[in-house]
Amino acid sequence: MRIDIHTHIIPEQLPRWSEKFGYSGFIHLEHHKPCCARMMKDDEFFREIQSNCWDPVKRIEECSSAEVDVQVLSTIPVMFNYWAKAEDCLEISKFLNDHIADVVSRYPKKFIGLATIPMQEASLAVREMERCKKLGFAGVQIGTNINDLNLNEQRFFPVYQAAMELNMALFVHPWNMMGTRQMDKYWLPWLVGMPAETNRAICSLIFGGVFEKFPALRFAFAHGGGSFPGGVGRVARGFEVRPDLTAIDNDIDPRRYLGHFYVDSLIHDEKFLHYVIELLGADKVCLGSDYPFPLGESKPGEEIERLQLDNHQKGKLFYQNALNWLNLDKKRFELA
Ligand SMILES: [Zn+2]
Repeated sequence: MRIDIHTHIIPEQLPRWSEKFGYSGFIHLEHHKPCCARMMKDDEFFREIQSNCWDPVKRIEECSSAEVDVQVLSTIPVMFNYWAKAEDCLEISKFLNDHIADVVSRYPKKFIGLATIPMQEASLAVREMERCKKLGFAGVQIGTNINDLNLNEQRFFPVYQAAMELNMALFVHPWNMMGTRQMDKYWLPWLVGMPAETNRAICSLIFGGVFEKFPALRFAFAHGGGSFPGGVGRVARGFEVRPDLTAIDNDIDPRRYLGHFYVDSLIHDEKFLHYVIELLGADKVCLGSDYPFPLGESKPGEEIERLQLDNHQKGKLFYQNALNWLNLDKKRFELA
């Protein structure tokens, strides 16, 4: 069995939110030819997408040729809209979540849902998370920063508290990348900014003591934890030599959190994937492909296959760790 924890989906039709809310910056879709659409931010082209971005039947077809049994669905991070008015973001989140809930309810053995929530206003985020719990979501996806605020900010604690109480998993995905304006060229926000963002999120949660305050929260981080696994030595050294700067909110060695959280397997480097499995544990890395986007793994799990693990270990990476992170039972996905 294979569960891909990192895949993105969007409804085929989006309302014109800029017109509805009376200010710009929202994404809409232009279906300019069959099976293809342009994601537009007002008049500005953002990304070309294909029907596998919205059509569950197409996705199931592609999954079966890639030998993926189940996809965990989350929105495309550009749809977070944390910058917008909180009530408007709530309305958009509901629209996107209702779409995911509908897809999951039509194909419950093929898809698992992660919700998006208006993180700029914790009370609304909690309310939407509660609603999504009732709709059958297994967790929520959040950004690595919220309008440039790090994830250890106290204003986000009600969200963590609610996620813990509701038994919802958290998937942390880079967005609103630091340095975007300064390194606009060469796709650097994606190539350099995204891994740095994930490192930023993990370090903020460690040093901010969030893993201590909410020990039962089940976090997973995209892209193999970004640049955290490669940088953890430096982080631990910083903790050792400058506790006056690093240990002000949590005096526990950052290395103690290795194995506390999950990451996906999307690293594009076999040796480094092997290292990440050693560093975080074979029960903390889950298959994740970033389907259907080109920076993802085109045949999900190919890199895990190349590691030549025994079947027991492979089973963990391919599905068991995902089930543990999401707190789901394998039986749900077995054929009757
Ligand atoms: Zn992604």
